[in-house]
Amino acid sequence: MSLAADKRAATTRDGDAPTSWDLDAIREDFPILQQQVHGVPLAYLDNAATSQKPTAVIDAVADFYRHDNANVHRAVHALAERATLGYEAARERVGHWINAAAASEVVFLRGTTEAINLLANGLGAGWRSGDRVVLTTMEHHANIVPWHLLRERAGIEIAVLPVTEAGELDLDALPGLLDGRTRLLALTHVSNVLGTINPVAEAVRIAHAHGVPVLVDGAQALAHQRVDVQALDCDFYAFSGHKMFGPTGIGVLYGKAERLAALPPWQGGGEMIRRVTFEKIRFADPPQRFEAGTQNFAGAIGLAAAIDYLAGLDADAMAGHEQALLRYATERLEAIPGLRIIGRAAHKAPLLSFLVDGVHAHDMGTLLDRKGVAVRTGHHCAMPLMDFYGVPATTRASLAFYNSLDEIDRLADAIDYARGVLA
Ligand code: PMP
Repeated sequence: MSLAADKRAATTRDGDAPTSWDLDAIREDFPILQQQVHGVPLAYLDNAATSQKPTAVIDAVADFYRHDNANVHRAVHALAERATLGYEAARERVGHWINAAAASEVVFLRGTTEAINLLANGLGAGWRSGDRVVLTTMEHHANIVPWHLLRERAGIEIAVLPVTEAGELDLDALPGLLDGRTRLLALTHVSNVLGTINPVAEAVRIAHAHGVPVLVDGAQALAHQRVDVQALDCDFYAFSGHKMFGPTGIGVLYGKAERLAALPPWQGGGEMIRRVTFEKIRFADPPQRFEAGTQNFAGAIGLAAAIDYLAGLDADAMAGHEQALLRYATERLEAIPGLRIIGRAAHKAPLLSFLVDGVHAHDMGTLLDRKGVAVRTGHHCAMPLMDFYGVPATTRASLAFYNSLDEIDRLADAIDYARGVLA
């Protein structure tokens, strides 16, 4: 498709066409996008860091605090009942959305980071010196540091599945890393630096053929695609509400029932026990075993509202729009002299990391901001990947379904402006 045709396809309003994407209407659902920064309209291209929230989510959280707020699973009064029902309905909603076999396979936590720490502690409690976890070069620090800490505590080994120059996993190297001491493969579904969508189902198939369970870091996936944990057949799947148009401070660890049942608790406290004496404790079953203390129940209700919002969108049209944004952005950026895109995988989420000759990424970020264009610059909590590419930092434009082709034009123009100032 030509650039112009791409631009039309992604912006056309056509009520009859099932693949239409009514961008104006969608943008109206996100009040924060209507504002100006530095006297120009905001172009928010930092969605991989956190996504913006539709009115439906903001209202769901506010309504909960206005009408239903009470602690869950504790009292029997009317508000407590409503809050508990709302919280457990949110668990059902999440379980259904990711196609978990049962809602009890959904553990509510703070986010992806907490989910991975829970596993490094819980799984790691049974690991011995010489046991191995396999990571990949493109992991976020959230899926590296907890395993480092475990290595310090228990003497485990960390093995690393390499990536190619294009930014794809070298799956051929995977069987060689799965030896008799390998206890887990932990890999990201979508790279927060490269945009690469990894062939997770294939990685799971290979790992399972060697008897190795798999944890998927889904932090960057759910904003862009439906995820079916049973189709992936992964053992664990972690994600964060704030990156999928839901509130901050709420996230999920999905685990197959038998995997969660075999895990010891992570934190101790109220509501995760069956019986406590000073001599002995019997823990609750999952998911309560992993939800010690007062949970972010308002956040869970907001996350369910985000899922309801996503469920109301045409998934094919959304994917078509995002891919049109990615193609257009790639073409516009490639045309800029001295600009190099890092991450050229065949399957990518709409995210572009790049370097511009003579311009430090941090200066680029500051100058783009002057033009109202919000991007992230730095190492993106993925220093091993930066080392692999031999760069200290990149500029990253990460797009969502509410971004427009005009915002891509503004990004490209702002990069030109920055080059003019600095290069
Ligand atoms: N994994 C990936 C791939 C991420 O992009 C992020 C957030 N940048 C995380 C994990 C951590 O997510 P959170 O900060 O929400 O726990």
